Amino acid sequence: MKAWIRKNVDAVVHMIYPKVCMQCGWDLFEDENCICLKCQMTLPTAAPTLNHPQILQLFYGRCSWLNGILYLKMEKSGGVRDLIHALKYYDSPEVGEYLGERWGRYLRRVHRELPWDAVIPVPMHPKKIKQRGYNQCDSIVQGFVRGSGLMSLPGVLERTQWKESQTFKGRWERSARELNPFSVRDIDALIGKHVLLLDDVVTTGATLEWCYQALEKVPNIKCSVGALAYPVHNRVSG
Ligand SMILES: [Zn+2]
Repeated sequence: MKAWIRKNVDAVVHMIYPKVCMQCGWDLFEDENCICLKCQMTLPTAAPTLNHPQILQLFYGRCSWLNGILYLKMEKSGGVRDLIHALKYYDSPEVGEYLGERWGRYLRRVHRELPWDAVIPVPMHPKKIKQRGYNQCDSIVQGFVRGSGLMSLPGVLERTQWKESQTFKGRWERSARELNPFSVRDIDALIGKHVLLLDDVVTTGATLEWCYQALEKVPNIKCSVGALAYPVHNRVSG
C-alpha cells in the first residue's frame, strides 16, 4: 500500500515538476537520472586507458603523474559543455555524482584492478564553497568511488588561499611554489599511498600543477591525475 501511495505521489510530483534530461531537455523516465537513455548512449567518452596521452603530455616537464585519465570529450558547445555548466554554475552537484559514478564503472569494467589507494578531489576554498554551496569535484569523487569501489580521502588536501587573480598571471609566475594556494592538511593519511586526484575540467593544468606541488611533499607518495572533461576543439596546451 505504501509503495502504491509513493508511486502515485511521485507521478503527481513529476507532472508538476517534470525531471528533464540535463543534456537534451526531454522528460526523464522514472528510472532515469540526470540524462536520458539516448544521451547516455551517445556520451562522447575518451578511451578508458589509464595513461591518456593528452593529459600526460600537458604536464610534460611539469609534473610526474603516474597515470592520467580523462572521461568526456568537450566540444566548444553541446551536450558535455552543458552538463559541466550545470555542474559548476547551476546548482547541480548530482550531475557530478552521476557522471563520476559512470566514469568509475567504465574504468572498472575495463581494468579489473585499479592501481590507486584513494581518490581525492581538487579542493575548493571554504569561502567559495559557501558561495556555490558545494565543491563540484567532491561530487565527482563521491560518484567515482561508488562506481569504482575505491575509497576517497576528502579533506586531506585543502585550498588555503583564494587567489582568483592568479588565473591571469603567466604560467611561471602561477607555478611559483611560494604562491601555492594548496597544502596537505593530513600528511599521515597520504604517506606511501598512490592517490588519484580528480578535477572537473582540465585546460591549462595550472590548478592541478599546484596540487601536485603540494602533494609531492608527502613522503613516498605516488600521484595520478584525472579530469571528468577535456576540451577537444583546441588541443589542451601549456
Ligand atoms: Zn537527453
